[in-house]
Amino acid sequence: MPASTLADPLCEDCSHPITAATAVSTVEGEKLCSDCAAEVPRCDECAAHTREPRVTVHETYLCSQCLIGWQRCTDCDRYTREATAIVGGGDACEQCGDNYDSCADCGNRATDTYAVDSRGRVCDNCQEDYRECADCYTLVPREETYCESCGDNHNPSHSRVHDWSYKPTPRFHGEGPLFLGLELEIKIPRGVFTEAVDTAVDDLGKAGYLKEDSSIRPCGFELVTHPVWNLLACNDSFGAATAVLSESEQLVPAWLFSPRGKTLFLDWLGEATHTVASHKTILGRYRDSEQARHFMQILGQNPEFVRLWTSSIRVAYGRNTSDLLHLLDPATDEPASYSLSISNVTQTEHVLLVTVIRKPYSGPPLQHPLPSSRHASTTRR
Ligand SMILES: [Zn+2]
Ligand SMILES: [Zn+2]
Ligand SMILES: [Zn+2]
Ligand SMILES: [Zn+2]
Ligand SMILES: [Zn+2]
Repeated sequence: MPASTLADPLCEDCSHPITAATAVSTVEGEKLCSDCAAEVPRCDECAAHTREPRVTVHETYLCSQCLIGWQRCTDCDRYTREATAIVGGGDACEQCGDNYDSCADCGNRATDTYAVDSRGRVCDNCQEDYRECADCYTLVPREETYCESCGDNHNPSHSRVHDWSYKPTPRFHGEGPLFLGLELEIKIPRGVFTEAVDTAVDDLGKAGYLKEDSSIRPCGFELVTHPVWNLLACNDSFGAATAVLSESEQLVPAWLFSPRGKTLFLDWLGEATHTVASHKTILGRYRDSEQARHFMQILGQNPEFVRLWTSSIRVAYGRNTSDLLHLLDPATDEPASYSLSISNVTQTEHVLLVTVIRKPYSGPPLQHPLPSSRHASTTRR
């Protein structure tokens, strides 16, 4: 046996000499004397001494060798053989994993989950398959609009009912210049919704369209007509006045520029100038409409209209109620002054209220004596 020239190894802790037979190795590779080794904890699995025993979910302490294949729980720091990957988080032991919701679709535990209509909650990954209910934050399948509870308050959909934001270019019907339309909210029994929509759209034709309106509960739609020269309601005086207009079968401005109009409007030039200026505003907004083309076709032939139209760039919006209209009553030739106001009844400008108040004549001095017999005969009105 060769004489050993090497000194016997020393305990790495206390430096006492140790022999190969008495030396104790730790898992970390230290060589210790038996006394020092007795101070170092042992692995509960392999019984080896280890400086860094790790606690497991079973409350045992294991050396690094025995923990190969185990995972550390990122929540409690204990080691486990069955860690679960948390969606949006780390790896959790079984016990800590129970603190997370599991996804109703993929079954994974997740840090954040989202309520899905009538099916529990889903994880971040699975929520991609859903969208939010149009009325609340509940997720619904992408092809649906409302969750079950909100849907009870909403209309079934129909391709012929437009979105509430639908606003087509107004299609003008009639002669104007005042165009009135109506907006009607209609409740429909849910069971006949489709039939009602089809009936309404077929009958409306080009006169109007249907829109969704979530304020109509539980079920219905809004019917909107295009602007028309339609009176929804009026009193007798207004009816008489518009009857005279419709008899003329002309545009009001055409009537104003006609020989008859020139005798009836007592401040004719002022009225004609205002009409031109306000129609520039209207035609500016609706320049492409059929009505605008018709208007220019008719009035473009009137030299006085053309002269006023081309000699000024003035535009006017509406009419001040203090700006009275001085007119011989078309039916009686009686002079009178009228205050005219047009106001919105609804915010959408679909229903307008026209108020004309007859006042004692206060216009320019009258040029000619009035036919006294007619004057007298109409004082009753
Ligand atoms: Zn020692
Ligand atoms: Zn061990
Ligand atoms: Zn844990
Ligand atoms: Zn999931
Ligand atoms: Zn909802």
